[in-house]
Amino acid sequence: FLELVGVTKRFGPFTAVRDVTLSIREGEFFTLVGPSGSGKTTMIRMLVGMERPTSGEIRLQGRVMNDVPANRRPTCMVFQSLALFPHKSVGENIEFSLKIAGVDAPTRRRRAEQLLELLRLPLSYYDKGVNQCSGGERQRIALARALAFDPQILFFDEPLSALDFRLRKTLEKELKDLHRETGKTFVYITHSLEEAMVMSDRIGIMKDGRIVQVGTPHEIYNRPINRFVAQFMGEVN
Ligand code: ATP
Repeated sequence: FLELVGVTKRFGPFTAVRDVTLSIREGEFFTLVGPSGSGKTTMIRMLVGMERPTSGEIRLQGRVMNDVPANRRPTCMVFQSLALFPHKSVGENIEFSLKIAGVDAPTRRRRAEQLLELLRLPLSYYDKGVNQCSGGERQRIALARALAFDPQILFFDEPLSALDFRLRKTLEKELKDLHRETGKTFVYITHSLEEAMVMSDRIGIMKDGRIVQVGTPHEIYNRPINRFVAQFMGEVN
């Protein structure tokens, strides 16, 4: 579905991502996890189309995406938690995305309400100002906006890292539920292996620009491929 073949990204003399070959399946929740500087952000930026690989290929459903810019990839959408219009209402924020996505005016309100429902926000929030919403609610609104585009893949760049522990736990569960309910492919990055273990179907562990192990949380937990993964795993417990 989404394939990387020998993908490398260099910044001058520095190699941020090194010869990564990886296949992400349709409908799966795939998480890239690794310490700071391991290349996760660079990877997701290439997958989204914000950065071009130095070499190698990124393919989506067999089509090479290397030269297709982010806004020409109708199947992909990045979720940025804080990219909301703070002075507009929740409904206006969601409808704006629906408009860009080409949904016609008469159906927008109904679609926006469906998205509120999917994200478990009360319908009364439609007219509420975004700046009156809590951090967790804003996160849900941002998700509703991303889903307004009906993308095949949703990319997440550490969306929960700024939140407190309890809210993070709640949203982890909600993201997992949302993944199941939408059936979409989720590609997520985080430095928290614990978060990855809770939510993902499969995890790719990154170190120094390489993917050192790919597997289900169960496989990685039971059979860490080397000491680095085992140690990384140890930090969770
Ligand atoms: P973090 O969790 O801290 O965000 P990360 O795993 O996402 O880390 P990247 O942001 O992908 O890591 O960075 C990987 C390496 O590439 C880092 O050493 C970083 O300094 C370097 N790097 C990233 N972008 C650039 C750039 N535009 N120019 C030069 N070096 C870069």
